[in-house]
Amino acid sequence: MEWRFKHGATEMSQITHSHTSDALLATFAAWQGDTRGVRVAQAPGRVNVIGEHTDYNDGFVLPMTLDKAVYAAARLGVGSRHRIRSVEFDQSLTFEVGTMPRTGRGHWASYAGGMLLEMQVGAAVDLLITGHVPQGAGLSSSAALEMAIGLVLSTVLGMEVDPITMARTGQRVEHQYAGVTCGLMDQMVSRLGKSNHALLLDCRSLGYTHVPLQDAAVKIVVINSNVRRALASSKYNERRSECIQGLACLQQWNPRLRALRDVTLDLLGEFGSVMDPVLHSRARHVVEENARVHAAVAALRAGDWPQLGVLLAASHESLRRLYEVSCAELDFLVEVALAAPGVYGARMMGGGFGGCTISIVEPNRAEELTKAVQASYQRRFDRETTAWILEEGLEAAILV
Ligand code: ADP
Ligand code: MG
Repeated sequence: MEWRFKHGATEMSQITHSHTSDALLATFAAWQGDTRGVRVAQAPGRVNVIGEHTDYNDGFVLPMTLDKAVYAAARLGVGSRHRIRSVEFDQSLTFEVGTMPRTGRGHWASYAGGMLLEMQVGAAVDLLITGHVPQGAGLSSSAALEMAIGLVLSTVLGMEVDPITMARTGQRVEHQYAGVTCGLMDQMVSRLGKSNHALLLDCRSLGYTHVPLQDAAVKIVVINSNVRRALASSKYNERRSECIQGLACLQQWNPRLRALRDVTLDLLGEFGSVMDPVLHSRARHVVEENARVHAAVAALRAGDWPQLGVLLAASHESLRRLYEVSCAELDFLVEVALAAPGVYGARMMGGGFGGCTISIVEPNRAEELTKAVQASYQRRFDRETTAWILEEGLEAAILV
C-alpha cells in the first residue's frame, strides 16, 4: 500500500478517496485489531486563487479546495489514554485524556492532541491519520489535518459543532500548539469549501460566498518551488507589524480606520508623501489586493479568464515589489508560466519566500505547462519542481 504523496500529476490522480478510506480502515484494523465503531472523515488542503496577505488585515481572500485531503479515522477507545497514530510518520503515541502528548510544537501529534484538548474530549479516543496534502508547501496540510480530526471527533462523540466554530478551534490549535499565528482562511476553506467553487471570504465578518469555478473551463496548475520557507515566519511577523504601523500612521488622520481593509486608495494617495515609503508600499499592496479579490470574483462570474489572469499577474507583481515576499525561484516559475502558451495568469501563493505558485491555464495546455516549467526550473536552479494539474476540489466530509 502506497501512502506517501508521490510527486507528479499522474500518480496523484490515481489516488481516489474511496481507496483511501478502505485502506485507512485496513490500517486501523492492523493497528487496533478491528474496525468496530470506526468513523472516517476527510478534509482538503487548499490553494488561494487571490487575496494574499489580506487576511490579517481584515480583508478578503478567494481560496479553493485541493483534490487532495487529510483523512482521520477514529472511535472511542478504552481506559483513560488516547491512542494516536500517523501513517506517514509511522509513529504511535498514547497520552492521558485531558493532557498533551509530550512532543514539540508543530509535531504531528501536537495537532491531534491540540484538537482533542480544545474540543474538550473527555473520553479516550483511538485516532489514526493519513493524508495526501504535501506538507509544509503552503497548501495547508495542517488546517486539513485539524478539520479532518475535528470532523471525525465530532461524529464519534455525537457533538454538533458548527463549521465556523470548528475552524476557530483549528486556528487556536495552530496558535497554541503549533506556534503559527495564522488567520482563519485555511480552516474555513478546508471545512466549508465546495467542489467546483472558490470561497469568497470576508476575514472581518467571516461572511462567505461560494463562487462557481467549473474546472472544465480552465485548469489550475500548482507548482511547488520546493524551496524551504526559511525566512517565512520571521518575515511574516515583520509584515504583520508593518501593517499595524502603517495603519497607526493613517489613523492619525482618520481614527475611525480599524484595519488596512478600511483604507482607500484615495486616502493612501493623499498621504503618500508623508508616510514612511516602506509602510506605504505595504499598505498599498493590501488595499489594491483587496480590490483585486473583488475584481477576480466578477471575472469568475463572467467567465472572463484573461481578466482573471491579469489580476493574478498583478497580484504577483505587487507581492514582489510592494510587499517584498517573493524570491528568485517563485519569480522564475511565474515568468516561465506567463510566457507559456495558453496561460492566463500566474502568481506566487502563500506567505512567500518559497512554497507554491498557482497558474490559470487553458485545459489543453496544462500538461505542456507542467513539463515546460519542470525542465527549465531544473536547468536554472538545479532543483526539482513538483507540478500538478488540479482535479475537481474535494469537500470536507464524513466518509464512513
Ligand atoms: P502546511 O500547512 O503549509 O502544509 P505546516 O508546517 O503548517 O505546513 O503544517 C505541516 C505539519 O502538519 C506537518 O509537519 C505535520 O506535523 C502536520 N501534518 C500535515 N499532514 C499530515 C499528515 N498526513 N499526517 C500527520 N501530520 C500531518
Ligand atoms: Mg499550515
